[in-house]
Amino acid sequence: MKILIVEDEQKTGDYLKQGLSEAGFVTELASNGVDGLHLALTGDFDLLVLDVMLPGLNGWQVMERLRQSEKSLPVLFLTARDQVEDRVKGLELGADDYLVKPFAFSELLARVRTLLRRGKNGLEPSILQAANLELDLLRRRVVRAGNRIELTAKEFALLELLLRRQGEVLPRSMIASQVWDMNFDSDTNVIEVAIRRLRAKVDDPYEPKLIRTARGMGYVLEVPEGP
Ligand code: CA
Repeated sequence: MKILIVEDEQKTGDYLKQGLSEAGFVTELASNGVDGLHLALTGDFDLLVLDVMLPGLNGWQVMERLRQSEKSLPVLFLTARDQVEDRVKGLELGADDYLVKPFAFSELLARVRTLLRRGKNGLEPSILQAANLELDLLRRRVVRAGNRIELTAKEFALLELLLRRQGEVLPRSMIASQVWDMNFDSDTNVIEVAIRRLRAKVDDPYEPKLIRTARGMGYVLEVPEGP
């Protein structure tokens, strides 16, 4: 994975370059907006870490020109100003995320990893699908056989997890920690209830049945084989 850093403050630039390199990324550093834009347009990068206050072109101008080009490159922008308008402006221009300086490197790394997972050119699709069931991650919408289905936030998270790990039996403990962000006592039936409600909405009225109980183990979402 290759990351382009555009940052004019040498100390910050070197620090970012070194940190990201140590984290296993290939990095390149540009110290002004013109060079940064040129590299972004001509190089093969997976992510752009872009400072806003830059000589030459500022970060917003770089982003604007980048978005006008054919390049689809996720952008994490760095702003020194904790101004809501700045963030809104950046996000409106198409930045994928932002960090306010000063930030902890661990925070930057977490954001970088998330953006890379999301991928450029939709490497990770924004729509998860199994048979005639579709979950749109960006629009937070679920459609089955052409019918829009309303889910609660937890049901949505549960379905997202099942779809992401299609074909894998997910233990209840894993579902509890991923969807509810906590551990449940083994005798609680919260997950069973949530699965039942989810099935009633997305599976019971439709064919084929996708959510299966793996008795004593957990749940799996998969498209059944054969006719
Ligand atoms: Ca700067």
